[in-house]
Amino acid sequence: MTAKPRIGFIGLGNMGRPMASRLIAAGYSLAVADAEPARLAGFGVKATLPASLAELGRLSDVVITMLPDGQIVAEVILGSGAGGDSVAAGLAEGALVVDMSSSAPTGTRALGARLAKRGIGLIDAPVSGGVKRAADGSLAIMAGGDAALVERARPILGALGTRIFATGPLGSGHAMKALNNYVSAAGLAAAAEALLIGKRFGLEPATMVAILNASTGRNNSTENKFTQFILSRRFDAGFSLGHMAKDLRIAVETARATASAAPLGEACATLWDAAEHALGGGADHTEIVRYLESLQGEKR
Ligand code: NAD
Repeated sequence: MTAKPRIGFIGLGNMGRPMASRLIAAGYSLAVADAEPARLAGFGVKATLPASLAELGRLSDVVITMLPDGQIVAEVILGSGAGGDSVAAGLAEGALVVDMSSSAPTGTRALGARLAKRGIGLIDAPVSGGVKRAADGSLAIMAGGDAALVERARPILGALGTRIFATGPLGSGHAMKALNNYVSAAGLAAAAEALLIGKRFGLEPATMVAILNASTGRNNSTENKFTQFILSRRFDAGFSLGHMAKDLRIAVETARATASAAPLGEACATLWDAAEHALGGGADHTEIVRYLESLQGEKR
């Protein structure tokens, strides 16, 4: 049996923390890093905390990034300035970088070309399923890039997700992820609007959710978000409004790059951008409902 690859894991946020924990539980040895020292809490006993990104690179055969966006991924991997710290400075030829963040596919392709010149592989393997499925290892994973590199990463991805799709060339996983989140964001916003209209008509919100879930309007948000995070007013799903707005911008960029008409996508991206502007990117994405309520002049 061949030894498990050593993994460097960067980005211990809402998703990265449970994902790194699952890899440790699966027997991988991890070196972890995050720009916020507080995010490393609890990892010192079960993972290595390298002094620099280059050191993390030296300790890793495979590096996983779970960062806010592709620009940050490129800065962390290649460095943001002359002589700055970077993962690539420490990586050996033949190493593999797996970007599991929801990044823009164009930037991913550019990063892949720059890493290839150094003999370092890159695949994109973004995820869907949220914090709950990150914690129980049942994420959906869409992996783009050289087929042999995807196969090399598959055992690692198998510790994080139950459905792993090879989507095609580098960047195709990131394109698919943005398109998935467009569909998800549109479904959430449509159901939220319907509930606000229905409430003014005199319908009971909890009854409306139950009826949608028994009817053709059912979607992931009506099933897994409305009762749990919205009607309860908890607004703590663990996925930020800023990340969702970013994903919609990527979906619209992808539409434009492929000369595709996307009138609903453009409208949806504009709505989520406005909500981010009003509530801040750190708000939970389910708070889109609070933004729609404010448009209706509802006071809470
Ligand atoms: P998050 O904001 O909770 O975590 C991001 C982490 O990256 C933070 O701990 C932050 O300190 C760290 N970071 C930022 N800049 C850094 C840098 N330069 N160097 C090192 N660390 C840095 O985000 P998240 O919710 O965990 O999401 C991560 C990615 O996964 C995003 O692209 C998001 O769109 C995507 N995603 C999130 C979810 C979800 O439900 N939260 C689901 C699927 C995909």
